Amino acid sequence: MATRRTRALRRLAAPLLFGAAVLGATAPAQAAGAGSGAGPGQGGKATAEIVTTAEHQGNVAALTFDDGPNPVDTPRLLQVLRENRVKAVFCLWGEYVERHPDVVRQIAAAGHTLCNHTMHHDNLAGWTPDQAFTEEEVRADLEATSALIREVVPGARIPYFRAPYGAWGEHSPQVAADLGMQPLGWAVTIEDWETQDADVLAQRLEERIRANPGGVVLLHDGPVVYDEAGQPQSFRAGTVEAVARVVPELKAEGWRFTKPARRG
Ligand SMILES: [Zn+2]
Repeated sequence: MATRRTRALRRLAAPLLFGAAVLGATAPAQAAGAGSGAGPGQGGKATAEIVTTAEHQGNVAALTFDDGPNPVDTPRLLQVLRENRVKAVFCLWGEYVERHPDVVRQIAAAGHTLCNHTMHHDNLAGWTPDQAFTEEEVRADLEATSALIREVVPGARIPYFRAPYGAWGEHSPQVAADLGMQPLGWAVTIEDWETQDADVLAQRLEERIRANPGGVVLLHDGPVVYDEAGQPQSFRAGTVEAVARVVPELKAEGWRFTKPARRG
């Protein structure tokens, strides 16, 4: 098992490695048709297919936010979404659920959809093959993360799972499906791990949503960065500002923001 130290190092390396992982994740055949996945999970029926599309067609997009809850940026994002009457998916990092449960309750109370993003944001496929999680390790992580979310929000529906870095590995799509969670990929990113310049991100968001109607959009409201006193700092203000600028503009043109598709 990874030590806390190696986890911290991996986390620091994440933005650099992310781009490479995206290429693998967008290969749609990776896990398609791997099984019906109608398992005993609490999220309903799901399959192992990694979905990248919104549940409707046309000028729609499904907004998804990863790596929170973040006690600084997520509440501001929730305000922006509320003002625009838009619902989104939040892919939650278990360690931050544990540290910031009130923010998870705010997300759920606002009617947004929850998504399991593992407990420690480990690379399930392994940075090297010998680090790859076994099926049992994947299942244990996903079950623990969902259980933690439901400790914080009793009875919470968690209909999606997204693998950190889009590194699904051999097992996670089917394990997620068995637990009632549809594997959630994406069709659009704005690479907000590269920059938090709101002008750059707003331009990317608008252009890329327009170029990919019907797509799942990957954005980030986390992770959480703490100062020396242990206080959480704003880390995704640029992403939130981009959403605040672009969503009302697209809505005014008739675009709708829906949930990602589910299979099964
Ligand atoms: Zn992530």
